[in-house]
Amino acid sequence: APKASTIGPITQGSPEQLAYMDEIEKLFTIDTEQLGDIKDHFMAEMTKGLDNERQTLAMIPSYVEGRLTGQEQGHYLALDLGGTNLRVVLVTLEGHGKFKTVSTKAKVSEELKTGPMRDLCGKSDLKLKGMDDTDTNRCVTMGMIDYIADCIDRFLTEQNLGSVDEDLPLGYTFSFPVLQSKINRGILTAWTKGFNCSGAIGKDPVLLLQDSLLRKHLPVKITALVNDTVGTLLSNAYQKPDTLAGLILGTGANGAYIEQMTNIGKWKEGATTSHEMVINMEFGAFDNERVKLPVTRFDNKLDRKSINPHFQIFEKLISGMYLGEIVRNVITDMMDRNLLFGQHGQATDIVSGHYQFETSYMSSIEADGSDDLAMVREILDTNLNLTNVDDVELRIVKRLCELVGTRAARLAAASIAAIVIHAKVDRKGADIGIDGSLYEFYPDFEARIYQGMAELLPDFAGDIRNIIRLGLARDGSGVGAALTACVADKMFKSK
Ligand code: BGC
Ligand code: MG
Repeated sequence: APKASTIGPITQGSPEQLAYMDEIEKLFTIDTEQLGDIKDHFMAEMTKGLDNERQTLAMIPSYVEGRLTGQEQGHYLALDLGGTNLRVVLVTLEGHGKFKTVSTKAKVSEELKTGPMRDLCGKSDLKLKGMDDTDTNRCVTMGMIDYIADCIDRFLTEQNLGSVDEDLPLGYTFSFPVLQSKINRGILTAWTKGFNCSGAIGKDPVLLLQDSLLRKHLPVKITALVNDTVGTLLSNAYQKPDTLAGLILGTGANGAYIEQMTNIGKWKEGATTSHEMVINMEFGAFDNERVKLPVTRFDNKLDRKSINPHFQIFEKLISGMYLGEIVRNVITDMMDRNLLFGQHGQATDIVSGHYQFETSYMSSIEADGSDDLAMVREILDTNLNLTNVDDVELRIVKRLCELVGTRAARLAAASIAAIVIHAKVDRKGADIGIDGSLYEFYPDFEARIYQGMAELLPDFAGDIRNIIRLGLARDGSGVGAALTACVADKMFKSK
């Protein structure tokens, strides 16, 4: 990621603007002490979730036991339904921590995200609904699952895998909260990240997809169901055996880490083949009760208008889907008070639309190091049709991005510090694999995480980067799903 060019608190502007920005600084800044409180609460919630079912921090056993050796080999299919894209990946594990991938990517449209999970006009459903074939043409929407199966179908044809003798094992990365009951079974408990397909909550995403694959006669067997954080952990571990955790800091946010079986108080299923298990924390839901999180009126506004009000509060403060919208909420509040963009009498209807200020704009704005903030001007002009913006306004917009972006990184730091302390990491340290657009592309996001961690882990502070080694996990969702399918094989064979 590029470096941020930080301007710091606003010192020029009208007295009203300065007073407003003063308040904003206070609202969005989390000092060391407050960050420490948040980290402590996070740790307490981890323990609660490990000991009890249905807690805010769900702490879901992934049924992935033990660690990888890096020697795993074989061909696996992976399917990745993430926050923004759907990908089908053919992964070849070559051993020695090496792998190759071939993949296709399709965008998931808003219609699909909020439409039905299954195409209600499939023939098998027609009978149930007492319709005959002539009713088929009433069908206008395609179900999400059938869209996914179509993508797999096309990929297999392209790769000449359409008529293999043995079913291909598929690892399914499904990046939503799923209560797992086996390595390839689970129940979707909620949608997040703007998804809201009907007929999916309470159902097993594996059974839904397998059913659709069968109807299309595709030679694919889903052998693993994987959260993207678990996949990220595994793909990092394939190359770095000292991996402790995997995080996604992208459209959504979440983390997984390796836990001792003896610490999982709620585990009732008896002996496992290993003394460790990967836990999908579902930390996007951390502190939905808002005990410690410094939720501002701008965050509340975003939450209220979201598809899942009161849920995923932590995720709403730290992930790419939402950061731009928080900045936009401050901008429109300032406009309402005649503190921004008013004196030019310009049309401000674009910036008034939900989610029109994208988090990717924040990235470009934060990176702008020019004296005249030419990039900030350019973004406001071309994307939001805001012209004749004055220097003070440019600086205010840039500062808002810094505040919201820094708060996000520091909160992410609190979650990592909590995992590190919980796992009793010593000076030998640990690797943490991270994937996602914020981590990869947002200026200084990683540097700000390190800064937050250094404050929370004073013993490691001087050497934080060498002890808590953050690193981009290449294609965590794709390779991770393949590795999980491989682990599933091993576990199956060892039983
Ligand atoms: C989901 C998690 C997922 C994360 C990152 C969240 O909204 O609840 O399951 O790991 O996004 O994709
Ligand atoms: Mg992803």
